[in-house]
Amino acid sequence: MRLSRYFLPVLKENPAEAQIVSHRYMLRAGMIKQQAAGIYSWLPLGFKVLRRIEQIVHEEQARAGHIPLLMPTLQPADLWRESGRYDDYGQEMLRIKDRQEREMLYGPTNEEMITDIFRSHVGSYKDLPLTLYHIQWKFRDEMRPRFGVMRGREFLMKDGYNFDLTKEDALHAYNRHLVSYLRTYERMGLQAIPMRADSGPIGGDDTHEFLVLAATGESEVFYDSAVTDIRLGQREIDYDDKAQCQAVMEEFTSLYARTDETHDAALFDAIPEERRKSARGIEVGQIFYFGTKYSEPMGATVVTPDGSRVPVHMGSHGIGVSRLLGAIIEASHDDKGIIWPEGVTPFGVGIVNLKQGDSSTDLACEGLYRDLKAKGLDPLYDDRDERAGAKFATMDLIGLPWRITVGPRGIANGKVELTSRRTGVSEEMSAGDAIERLV
Ligand code: ATP
Ligand code: MG
Ligand code: MG
Ligand code: MG
Repeated sequence: MRLSRYFLPVLKENPAEAQIVSHRYMLRAGMIKQQAAGIYSWLPLGFKVLRRIEQIVHEEQARAGHIPLLMPTLQPADLWRESGRYDDYGQEMLRIKDRQEREMLYGPTNEEMITDIFRSHVGSYKDLPLTLYHIQWKFRDEMRPRFGVMRGREFLMKDGYNFDLTKEDALHAYNRHLVSYLRTYERMGLQAIPMRADSGPIGGDDTHEFLVLAATGESEVFYDSAVTDIRLGQREIDYDDKAQCQAVMEEFTSLYARTDETHDAALFDAIPEERRKSARGIEVGQIFYFGTKYSEPMGATVVTPDGSRVPVHMGSHGIGVSRLLGAIIEASHDDKGIIWPEGVTPFGVGIVNLKQGDSSTDLACEGLYRDLKAKGLDPLYDDRDERAGAKFATMDLIGLPWRITVGPRGIANGKVELTSRRTGVSEEMSAGDAIERLV
């Protein structure tokens, strides 16, 4: 993409309404625009990152054997009456009437609807196990929408639902989700720690939240610092292997790590003092096992091998897709702007032409731009007629992991400069070598 043709409405001033760094940078980098409290347009740069995050989520769900579908944002109130949650859900639910006076709602989550789909089409244990998920907009009329996309009212969530014959199978689904989420967050350059949590209005006994440690997080968390040393890394996972998934789950959840709702001071005090940590965290996901809480009242049953009918065991599993942009920026930035991890960066590399209109730099930049595109590196070429300082400031703000700087002096010696956004280290080399370093 050429910056002169792109739509990147960068703000020079810090927007007064933004209280935390991720919100500030998302506005300044022209990624989002607020349309109403907690409701945002996703401008091209923000949309591009959102899409990359979605893509990672899809790939890891596919790897775990989970199946994508798409449910609507609007739901009939009657479904929620069946589970009893229509009245329980309270003020966070946006309730709407259509022209026939039928009661509708903008879905805050989809347990009821997915259970309805299941009961309409599945009736035998032979069709299990089954895990369906979607990535869809949710609406929750949050009391205090704030911090930009971190606590929106309309927000994008991946929510998945497992259907199993037995509790044991459903707990395997739980573990499978836990492992797939760990890999999902790690691919985004994030450490998200599974912590024992409270189930809230979803209900159920077994639940973990995934928290990214950050001073601006809204949750208070308590943990054994040893938990921050564990990584999933590149290990091979067989998602059908119950024992392996359980072992990973235990590895990541045996050390003390809890949110304030489930915090147990006596257990916490048993940790060696130097490892006892309390901090703030951003909830970027949550997994639940809730058994037959929805399948029983809504009649989602299957015939078992012995011919009897039983309600299925279920769980639900969510990732805050749009919140992740904020969480990643909170975890990865400096005083000049965002520092995107490679896995989610909107463009792979920026090209800065220090002297736009100079035939030697223009020619070199055009060549680089063409070759980087051909290699699939998705370059953003700053071809505007701007001062070098302004071009650097824009690149630093939008946080691409690599920048190639092309100036007349370097070109006279056959060199460009390759700079890492994270380390700030620059190296001179030929354009060809720079491309080789990036592939
Ligand atoms: P929170 O405690 O922050 O209100 P939640 O526990 O109500 O979140 P869940 O029902 O667990 O949310 O939804 C799954 C995920 O969706 C959360 O882990 C979070 O990452 C994301 N999410 C929830 N509410 C919002 C929101 N208002 N804006 C953006 N993302 C959200
Ligand atoms: Mg909430
Ligand atoms: Mg929560
Ligand atoms: Mg939650």
